[in-house]
Amino acid sequence: MKNIFITRQIPGNAVKTLEEKGYSVTVGKYKTPITERELIKELKKKKYDAVITLLTDKIGTNIFDASPETKLFSNYSVGYDNFDIVEAKKRNVTLTNVSGNYVEGVAEHTIALLLTLMSHIVEADSFVRKGKYKGWDPMLFIGDNIANKTIAIIGTGRIGGKVAHKLYLGFGAKIIYYDVVKNESIEKDCNATFVNSIDKALAMADIVSIHVPLLPTTHHMINKARLNKMKPSAYLINTSRGAVIDEKALVNALKNNEIKGAGLDVYEFEPKLTKGLTKLSNIILSPHIASAQIETRNEMSRLVAENVIDFLEGKIPKNKIS
Ligand code: NAD
Repeated sequence: MKNIFITRQIPGNAVKTLEEKGYSVTVGKYKTPITERELIKELKKKKYDAVITLLTDKIGTNIFDASPETKLFSNYSVGYDNFDIVEAKKRNVTLTNVSGNYVEGVAEHTIALLLTLMSHIVEADSFVRKGKYKGWDPMLFIGDNIANKTIAIIGTGRIGGKVAHKLYLGFGAKIIYYDVVKNESIEKDCNATFVNSIDKALAMADIVSIHVPLLPTTHHMINKARLNKMKPSAYLINTSRGAVIDEKALVNALKNNEIKGAGLDVYEFEPKLTKGLTKLSNIILSPHIASAQIETRNEMSRLVAENVIDFLEGKIPKNKIS
């Protein structure tokens, strides 16, 4: 019988699907992200053929050494910057993520952050709850709208492309984009303009939305110098990975009103937050929940099970990374 370990409970039917295939599935009973030491301890209890991991699980040399018989680590996540791909290749370990055309939810959350930020929804809610609302006031919580604004999408893959479609078709925004590859679909469907330099795109935009994966080339892609290129009236949204932004530089830029506001779902050192971040009034924060819609999580669950089954049946998993 094949043995599978899942580091923590995940939503959806993955466990049921794998058990119906006749596999034995063990789910870690951890309420917070499993530590490397805990994972090593778990992997030494039994020989696991496959391990389903979360983006919080750092999978590299120590884990591969602890469980040399595990030849598949399958992420329940789109991003896979938690994997040591070079080391996995050396050891002939297969890695998968979950990637498919189900990114509506992440795109919606990106826009939710933007609308909440621009319309001061969080402070307005608290204002009403505290009994401070004393009647309609033309000066109260004046924000910005999205229509006719220039939106720079940085990274126009599945999620960035969806955000472009929704903001152009749904909100009447003007789309510009920067990517290492051109996106003909958004050029055609959203009248999007490719800008061949990120600095130029940042300088042109009223709103910047980040959708690149975390790679050595995208680490601190938004740094002090790039924040300085942005308009003082511009907003920055990041639902990709925290370390794409130099968070300390962002705190300073927001503190000094060098940009107007930011919305973050992801953090450079998550779950730790850079000092000063939560003291700012021109930022809104969500706890890495951009894919936390039941539809998205169920689809991720279906895909992770499919990847494991394909691998254990000797096929190439659809979402094979390496
Ligand atoms: P994707 O691979 O479809 O798109 C990424 C895009 O970034 C591609 O078009 C690629 O060409 C571009 N890119 C790569 N390197 C670049 C560079 N140096 N400069 C400019 N562009 C570059 O990925 P996706 O499915 O759209 O997901 C994007 C990221 O969003 C994921 O890697 C993941 O980290 C993150 N994500 C976060 C959540 C969340 O819960 N907050 C959920 C899903 C995905």
